Amino acid sequence: MGFREETREWLEANCPESMRSPGMVTSGGRRATFANPDTKLWLDRMAEKGWTAPDWPKEYGGGGLDKDEQQILVEEMRRLNARAPLGGHGLTMIGPALLEFGTPEQCAEHLPRILSGEIKWCQGYSEPGAGSDLASLQCKAEEDGDDYVINGSKIWTSGADMADWIFCLVRTDFEASKHEGISFIVFDMTTEGVSIAPIELISGSSEFCQTFFDDVRVPKRHLISRPGNGWTVGKRLLQYERTSIGGVGGAKQKVRTLDEYAKEYAGEADGKISDPGMREDVLGCLMDDRSYSLTMRRSAEEASTSKAPTFLSSLFKYYGTEQNIRRQHLMISALGTQGLGWSGDGFSSGELGMTRGWLRSKANSIEGGSSEVMLNIIAKRILALPD
Ligand SMILES: Cc1cc2nc3c(=O)[nH]c(=O)nc-3n(C[C@H](O)[C@H](O)[C@H](O)COP(=O)(O)OP(=O)(O)OC[C@H]3O[C@@H](n4cnc5c(N)ncnc54)[C@H](O)[C@@H]3O)c2cc1C
Repeated sequence: MGFREETREWLEANCPESMRSPGMVTSGGRRATFANPDTKLWLDRMAEKGWTAPDWPKEYGGGGLDKDEQQILVEEMRRLNARAPLGGHGLTMIGPALLEFGTPEQCAEHLPRILSGEIKWCQGYSEPGAGSDLASLQCKAEEDGDDYVINGSKIWTSGADMADWIFCLVRTDFEASKHEGISFIVFDMTTEGVSIAPIELISGSSEFCQTFFDDVRVPKRHLISRPGNGWTVGKRLLQYERTSIGGVGGAKQKVRTLDEYAKEYAGEADGKISDPGMREDVLGCLMDDRSYSLTMRRSAEEASTSKAPTFLSSLFKYYGTEQNIRRQHLMISALGTQGLGWSGDGFSSGELGMTRGWLRSKANSIEGGSSEVMLNIIAKRILALPD
């Protein structure tokens, strides 16, 4: 039996029915809860198969699939409309960075626990005085025997209150130049001296936290790469993050499309959106969606010799997030007043979800580096324009 047939048969037999639709994707962790037990079952089955990270080496619990096999898996998951079994910073950020910069011991310690969904990670990059200008960070790690002692704080740490481990950029050398004094370190969030204050948003939810480190002792073996090379590791991780935010790769599920919503809410005549202005806007957006997805596919195929992302990740991050903002905005326009509800009986749960999705999309152009910063990188690193 060929790989496609085997994959199809396995997915048919192992993907629970309730996982064959869009919905919540777990990012795992010691404190993960599963309202639907199928979410856990699907995670465990895929993890055992190595398919939570199909391209990672088998020795660390990955699938060891080549590019063609990965594409077949994506297509077969899409055929069932299967959702991803696992998401989160472990899989999309620190895992790939460890594969590139970690020692075999560090990979063996962390990668299997990422793949199985046992450990949830968070990202300690931004500080109150270091966002777009990340290299200004001041959180310090000082050597003391076999340990580093960390003091300082991080802000906008998504999911820190639920995370088990953190990857952090810290300053280990205050004499060196801004970029060369930075190191990259990982540690357990239960280490003494770590405290977390959730930041309450206007919506009432707390997606982010401020994270404080007060004499946090971290064994030196948890430093990734050599001291002072943190900027290189951190930048590469950002490329993985930006590629992921921009929507490259992964099995895309079938969801209701923009034109279906527009027809339902803004009216339909002869199978078309009745309002000509809305029709033109929706058509333009769908055409750009299609062009973008073909460009991502072409880029992935051209990168056949190396899996590591490049500065192109900034281009995908910029375009993918701005396109999502445009799509969400059009969706809300099509919904009219039904797109402006916050609570109450006058709105369906789907409509309320879309309002929140639209508002959430605004953060897309900030997280992982703002659109303005992406444009700077594109100008400098891709187009080679002068400073
Ligand atoms: C949803 C979300 C999740 C996040 N999660 C995390 C996380 O888990 N961990 C973490 O460490 N951080 C996280 N962040 C923080 C994020 O990385 C920063 O918000 C981002 O890098 C921008 O930094 P800042 O907020 O300090 O804005 P600033 O850097 O102060 O920027 C303010 C404005 O100035 C513009 N600007 C700044 N510099 C330039 C320039 N050189 N050229 C042109 N324009 C410029 C920016 O585009 C922006 O519009 C998250 C942010 C969001 C929105």
